[in-house]
Amino acid sequence: MKRLAVLGSTGSIGTSTLDLVRTHPDRFRVVALAAGGNLDLLGRQIDEHRPAMVSVTADGDAELLAAEFPEIEIAAGPDGLERVATHEMAEMVVTALVGAAGLPPTMAAIGARKDIALANKETLVIAGDLVMAAAATAGVRLLPVDSEHAALHQLLGGRPGAAVARLILTASGGPFRSWKRSRMERATVDEALDHPTWRMGPKISVDSATMMNKGLEIIEAHHLFAMPEDRIDVVIHPQSLVHSLVAHTDGTLIAQLSVNDMRLPILYALGWPDRLDPPVETLDLAAVGRLDFSPPDPDRFPALDLARAALRAGGEMPAVLNAANEVAVATFLRGHCPFGRIAATIDAVMNTWSNRNHPLVSIEQAMATDAEARRMAITALGNTTTLSRVPSS
Ligand code: NDP
Repeated sequence: MKRLAVLGSTGSIGTSTLDLVRTHPDRFRVVALAAGGNLDLLGRQIDEHRPAMVSVTADGDAELLAAEFPEIEIAAGPDGLERVATHEMAEMVVTALVGAAGLPPTMAAIGARKDIALANKETLVIAGDLVMAAAATAGVRLLPVDSEHAALHQLLGGRPGAAVARLILTASGGPFRSWKRSRMERATVDEALDHPTWRMGPKISVDSATMMNKGLEIIEAHHLFAMPEDRIDVVIHPQSLVHSLVAHTDGTLIAQLSVNDMRLPILYALGWPDRLDPPVETLDLAAVGRLDFSPPDPDRFPALDLARAALRAGGEMPAVLNAANEVAVATFLRGHCPFGRIAATIDAVMNTWSNRNHPLVSIEQAMATDAEARRMAITALGNTTTLSRVPSS
């Protein structure tokens, strides 16, 4: 029986995780939950899973929950998140918060020697070197939940050996895979959220539409598998059934395939090293019939190159990329900026940061960088100047 703390229990990954706890009651038990503000769903989760502790974002929500569930320890804010992440009963922490908010509690969980099922890729994007070093020092396992990285974990069995030449991440191409650039520039929020193969939270859905999600995943793969940026490729695969491939030095490609249901990579991370009964049927290749592949288009999806540039620059730059992206995506989701401004904003903030980029040596520095880059992104979004590197048509 593995005891779990779930950060972001009311989100897409969080609810899928709790589905798996429901279908594997002999293997998993929930001991602590953290969510933002969805009290209705959180209340139902508490009723079903009876955790020892729960945390929410706002103090007022914590007071409401404390009145409803007097037998449960209730907390709020960043301190509450950290207490859930380090809860004494938890053996593994599922990090399914969205954005930079996931970094501090993940570091706290590592410090408390909890194994990590890592969905919150932003943690590795912002401070991957520090997070991987802390995990190695603490001797904790960091198991990727992202389907591409779960695939690579299965293909590599940990770190790549000398015979591994390249990692190849597949990308669905998102809802705008075949759209013209001029149409993408004017895309609505509903169009950006209408992902063809995955049902996900709003932030990662927009990241998939810009393909920043794949850029963030390149950075994530670099840290998880100690692979240089120029040996991590991306190939468009609209069916989302091949989740990643490893190219070997003898010319052999080995791929991982499964149906596109996030419960499979989550279950892999939760159950590792065991393989547990899946909640879905095994992929039927004869029924699928065909698998398509094509190269990504850097002109229509400049976010990919921005992420590669941030990774090559190193230091604070990936945190800057991430913060500017979070601000631009949130602004787009509120309907306050066109889709085409997302990559342009990131580009502007990175350009401004480029002559003041420092090596990243602490989580405090990472969070300060995050805060400053957010302020710069807000300023850039208020500025209509044409931006470099991103063509305007
Ligand atoms: P969602 O937006 O669906 O869920 C986010 C969760 O985090 C919600 O439970 C939300 O609470 C909670 N939350 C957000 N901010 C805070 C905060 N400050 N304090 C406490 N809780 C907070 O996101 P997803 O599940 O889609 O994604 C989660 C992470 O997993 C992301 O990093 C994403 O990139 C990654 N991922 C997601 C995949 C997917 O299929 N969805 C696939 C691969 C990776 P509430 O709703 O109660 O406000």
